[in-house]
Amino acid sequence: MQLKTQLFIDGKWVNGSGKLPVTDPSNESVIAQVETASDELCLAAIDAADRAFKTWSKTPPRVRAEILRKAFEIMVAEADHLAKIISMENGKVLSDAKGEILYAAEFFRWFSEEAVRISGDFRTAPSGDKRILVTHQPIGVSLLITPWNFPAAMATRKIGPALAAGCTVILKPAGETPLTALAIVDILDRAGVPAGVVNLILPTPTGPAIAKILKDPRVLNLSFTGSTEVGKVLLKEAADRVIRCSMELGGNAPFLVLSDANIDDAVSGAMLAKMRNGGAACTAANRFYVAKEVAEEFTSKLTKAMSGLKMAAGLSDGAQLGASVSIKERNKIAELVDASLSAGAKAETGAKIPEGAGAFYPATVLKVKKDNPILQQEVFGPVAPIVVIESDEEAIELANATEYGLIAYVYSGETGRAIRTAEALQAGMVAINRGVISDPAAPFGGFKQSGLGREGGFDGIHEFLETKYIGVDLK
Ligand code: NAD
Ligand code: MN
Repeated sequence: MQLKTQLFIDGKWVNGSGKLPVTDPSNESVIAQVETASDELCLAAIDAADRAFKTWSKTPPRVRAEILRKAFEIMVAEADHLAKIISMENGKVLSDAKGEILYAAEFFRWFSEEAVRISGDFRTAPSGDKRILVTHQPIGVSLLITPWNFPAAMATRKIGPALAAGCTVILKPAGETPLTALAIVDILDRAGVPAGVVNLILPTPTGPAIAKILKDPRVLNLSFTGSTEVGKVLLKEAADRVIRCSMELGGNAPFLVLSDANIDDAVSGAMLAKMRNGGAACTAANRFYVAKEVAEEFTSKLTKAMSGLKMAAGLSDGAQLGASVSIKERNKIAELVDASLSAGAKAETGAKIPEGAGAFYPATVLKVKKDNPILQQEVFGPVAPIVVIESDEEAIELANATEYGLIAYVYSGETGRAIRTAEALQAGMVAINRGVISDPAAPFGGFKQSGLGREGGFDGIHEFLETKYIGVDLK
């Protein structure tokens, strides 16, 4: 398989200062050695992005749009190849990987359409003394940092709006999954992105190198997707220079099944909300609050569906649950489940690391009390803890009892009841009678410690634009 393993700086593939092995977590073998970036190379990326900004920011929106559109088309045409790369380095099953590539490509299409629709405003001031002219201009060099769980979509969800807005970027993908990001940068290069507009670096260790980049006065914007813990470190570092920040952080999504829900629908929705990506999604349903009237039926049907999944290497035939991204991440899942069991949880299925190689963890259903510690943690794996609830009010109160607020799911047979519940939930997104709602055309983001700002939709491009007000005297 053809893989890009060099860094991409100023329109050229270059060797770095060292190498980082990338592993296939389903068999623990090394797939590739990727070049890592020294401080000098990080600086070269800033130089290139800063130089390119002068022309890219003035490039007609239509031209920027056409390049993004072209990148969308190449990505769709090469979806099978890209999906294999994701599966190999991330461990997720091929159908999830293919779904991610198509979703990821849509961000290029959506933002190619947004590039030519950046709106402004021209008004008479209420006092009549002047005209109020409001316009938007690109912020400048943007640092994009992405996680390993959606190595393609988290990159395109940032690169798409950045390029549409007229910003230039330095992408720092996760060390676990750089191959997908490298393949996407190669597509952007082939789509005609000019030198310096998109740069890819992979410094190791990450923290000190990124801290240095954020000190450079030419870097004006930071878009991060990853854990809340790292997000807080970056917000503190960005504070020194008051850099614009957009943060897509962790989640702890509640999944509410109200007493009038259609249980078969709720179970299919739960399987999607829980098991897409093997549970390694910031949007993954992490806690199930199920009305006492339907709890037994829901639990037994969900257990049946979960225990029927075929767990195997992502690329193997018929695999429905792949490996976690690494043994370390898999062991974190196991520790959370073990602690939950020690605190009184009862396992309906799964809950045990299988024999053999690979970072596998089985689909697990737990019956837990509402104070079980697993409910306060982002599990990031195929684990469904179920809590029986007495009323809608209790479900809402428990759902909101977390510092996170990314997404929540509600199943109910009555629209009014579902919307009332959705309005009471502290989450940036609420799915009603659906297991997946992510859409490039909708604003994605969280309340509370799940983040700042929104990606996608009409909001996404504004993370890369400054608002400028020009007051005009017409006398
Ligand atoms: P992570 O926070 O460990 O790492 C994310 C990125 O930050 C990686 O590229 C990593 O190399 C980099 N990084 C780590 N330490 C850093 C530092 N000190 N300075 C600068 N960069 C640093 O997250 P992860 O383990 O890759 O991904 C899982 C997390 O991401 C979960 O918490 C998940 O909920 C979250 N996530 C959120 C969203 C969202 O949109 N809200 C989407 C996907 C994943
Ligand atoms: Mn991590």
